Amino acid sequence: MSKKGESSQLLREFPDFTDTMHSLVAMERIPAGVVEECREAVAMARRFNRTVARSYALELDRRMQEDPTFLPWELVEEANRWGFFTMWIPKLFGGKGWSLSSISPFVEELASECLAITNLIGVHYFGYSILVATWNIRLIDMISREVVEGEREGRPCLVSGAVTEPEAGTDAEEVELLARARVRCHARRVEGGYVVNGRKIFISNGHLSTWHILIAYEDLERPDETMIAFAVKNGMPGFSFGRMEKKMGQKGCPASELVFEDCFIPDENLLVAASQLTGMKRGARELGMQLIDFVVSATRPGVGAMGAGVARGAFELALRFARETEVAGKPLINHEWAQCLLAEMYKNAALARLSYMEANYSNSMYGMAKLLSFKPLYYYNRLIPTSMFDRWMPAANSRQATTAVFRKLVMDGQSDAEARRASGWASLAKVAGTDLGVRNCQLALELMGQAGLRHDRRAEKCLRDAKLLQIYEGTNQLNRLNVFKCLVAPAAPEARAFED
Ligand SMILES: Cc1cc2nc3c(=O)[nH]c(=O)nc-3n(C[C@H](O)[C@H](O)[C@H](O)COP(=O)(O)OP(=O)(O)OC[C@H]3O[C@@H](n4cnc5c(N)ncnc54)[C@H](O)[C@@H]3O)c2cc1C
Repeated sequence: MSKKGESSQLLREFPDFTDTMHSLVAMERIPAGVVEECREAVAMARRFNRTVARSYALELDRRMQEDPTFLPWELVEEANRWGFFTMWIPKLFGGKGWSLSSISPFVEELASECLAITNLIGVHYFGYSILVATWNIRLIDMISREVVEGEREGRPCLVSGAVTEPEAGTDAEEVELLARARVRCHARRVEGGYVVNGRKIFISNGHLSTWHILIAYEDLERPDETMIAFAVKNGMPGFSFGRMEKKMGQKGCPASELVFEDCFIPDENLLVAASQLTGMKRGARELGMQLIDFVVSATRPGVGAMGAGVARGAFELALRFARETEVAGKPLINHEWAQCLLAEMYKNAALARLSYMEANYSNSMYGMAKLLSFKPLYYYNRLIPTSMFDRWMPAANSRQATTAVFRKLVMDGQSDAEARRASGWASLAKVAGTDLGVRNCQLALELMGQAGLRHDRRAEKCLRDAKLLQIYEGTNQLNRLNVFKCLVAPAAPEARAFED
């Protein structure tokens, strides 16, 4: 068979609607309570926007422009008072245990006001997701309880996720690329632990976080087979903060450099070493990537939701402007071209929302949220108060056996087809939401003319902030290739998507 024939065999036809509309299937499988939680989360975000974010967003942006080393502690403390850093920590670990699906509508709502503030709050769950995806129950429990304690005592305890390096961004997040990635963060085995050397860059909230979930590699020549994750706490000898990036948007959320110079990390802070996981269905290489995939499949829809939020925010700014402004003797909103443009923006915001919702449902069925979306477990988690869990869970969570059971259940319990579904839909939602978000910001500026360029009108800030969404959590180009690999040609898991 010709080469052309071979590659066309890998592709599948566009699936029928029952295969792409996870929301339909979810109606049967996913507890109805999830929708109620989404509503409550949105209402809370709306109140926060009204009372905190609206008045602070522009001031924060200006302040960071003048002094890029400023750290917005006040805002972190305020978000901590609102309880945002424990909402999506499972009750099993002392948190409030909201379902993962409700984080995206919450994020969308926050993002309709300010993306920097949204990322400052939301990215805590990026770090937290990496922690959870290691399924090291002892450390998840310990760190979660510190976050909860920090909330109770008014001393915020945030978690950052450190994957990106100076020479490896997208590469560090994709299985086909990691084998050839120029990663430099090295972990050397020594007695009682590891010595880590290397640097991580663009780590959101780095300077504001207490814990950092670090991805390193035991062999830099074989990073895909030797991925290793650690929980690093501020103050560990050999760990320090480097520069803060001076970036075009989302200025209120610092992007930090983390520096590791002969940093000794004791065994008790080892989260997982892919090469040491025994008795699992997958080998070290696949396990390492399953870890990354668990995370980005859960968090990329969130980035899509941020795109949906800014798409909405830009639409609302444009609508208000069109109502208030008179052009050629009549309100701008009465001009047909303006109506078409506003309809286009409305459509973009709605499509962005639909795609992240679908991705969330897909994740609830196939990804990280699968276990807690299982109806009996969901209701158990929802209805039993945290204090009851607190009585017996810490002791159980500290046992090695609990970690082993979770890893077996969750990691081995996910089939390759399920992983591809969750991953493909996450990338799809990320690309769709963020592209539509940027598009709406551009359209708002088109409609608003010179008024849109003024800082106090917020539209130019929306565009500066939105552009960053297309880059983080894997560039949109690479996410498109992941859509190809996972959804267009899923029959070939090693799909040609990333080949030279
Ligand atoms: C505001 C912000 C916050 C961030 N927060 C975090 C964080 O909290 N934690 C963290 O770990 N990281 C974080 N990042 C890093 C982010 O995840 C990376 O920027 C992202 O993955 C892209 O990597 P890169 O910037 O190195 O781009 P590169 O990977 O260098 O890409 C450059 C260009 O090359 C293309 N490209 C890359 N590889 C290939 C390939 N193999 N084939 C073809 N084309 C390719 C890309 O699509 C892009 O166009 C953050 C980034 C930003 C901007």
